Amino acid sequence: MTIDAPAAGPGGPWPVAALDLGGTKIAGALVEADGTLLRPVRRPTPRLGTAEQIAAAVTEVLELLAGDPRWPDAAAVGIGSAGPVDRERGTVSPVNIPAWRDYPLAEHVRRVTGRPVTLAGDGVAVAAAEHWLGAAAGFDNALCIVVSTGVGGGLVLGGRLHLGRTGNAGHIGHISVDQLGPRCPCGGRGCVELYTSGTSIARWYREQGGAERDAAAIGVAARHGEPLAVAAYDRAARALAAGIAATATLVEIEVAVIGGGVAQSGEVLMEPLRRHLGEYAALPFAADVRVLPAKLGTEAGLVGAAALVAGPAPTPLPGQATDAAGAPTEVRGATLAEALQVE
Ligand SMILES: [Zn+2]
Repeated sequence: MTIDAPAAGPGGPWPVAALDLGGTKIAGALVEADGTLLRPVRRPTPRLGTAEQIAAAVTEVLELLAGDPRWPDAAAVGIGSAGPVDRERGTVSPVNIPAWRDYPLAEHVRRVTGRPVTLAGDGVAVAAAEHWLGAAAGFDNALCIVVSTGVGGGLVLGGRLHLGRTGNAGHIGHISVDQLGPRCPCGGRGCVELYTSGTSIARWYREQGGAERDAAAIGVAARHGEPLAVAAYDRAARALAAGIAATATLVEIEVAVIGGGVAQSGEVLMEPLRRHLGEYAALPFAADVRVLPAKLGTEAGLVGAAALVAGPAPTPLPGQATDAAGAPTEVRGATLAEALQVE
């Protein structure tokens, strides 16, 4: 079905409709100018379903959003999707959703909603959220990392979200930190994700003779000083530190923000991360990179998906009107999306 196109007339660029599409859930919300989520909804992703079944679940989330009284004001849709994505072609090929390869998600959402769509990888969306309202706010150069089932991320460079050519820039999980390491499902070798993801922590712990536990439970054991659990987190932190150091050396980030379920383990991850970072980020311009926990929780994907469309642009485009505070005015989705994409 097609949801009614937005009503003409005033209303400004907010709220924005946001979608966060991952291997386990499809979340949606209308997002207000201050990042508040109106009517957040979620449905499980029929991850192993056909392309049509997965698309139908997306449609269902959009229809739930369209039931909100504010829906007519939402002039655009921002999507953060498990990647890889291709923002120019509007397609997604999430590693964990086999039936979607080069699936035209942007076109599907555009057709269902009658609204313009901006698409980027979920790590990029989280970076947009943390830069807007979270731990990366106020930093012009930041790497935001999500450590959960996998490891993703996004970059802020020169005060702007850096999407990259296809919308996947900052995907630190697939930087190689061991050139002769094991094969990664991405096709590479020795990727950060093979050491740092929750799945990898649990697998290594089990292979070393530990019990069948998930990364959160291993984190609790590490906090209580169990040597194997401490070692599992140390190994995860070391690989992540090497990836952060490479990024800091390459583009001079000031801060690395760490979020996601595994980061909930807190100092169990952060302490060895800071320690190992000292070992890998050796040059003075990289050595002072700060590591901070993310401020936003599971809502970061939706907040960031909205930010992809509607702001905040840290600097106006040439010739663009600004308010007293220097923020761009007269901004609607496409224009501000362009601003975010400029790097
Ligand atoms: Zn990989």
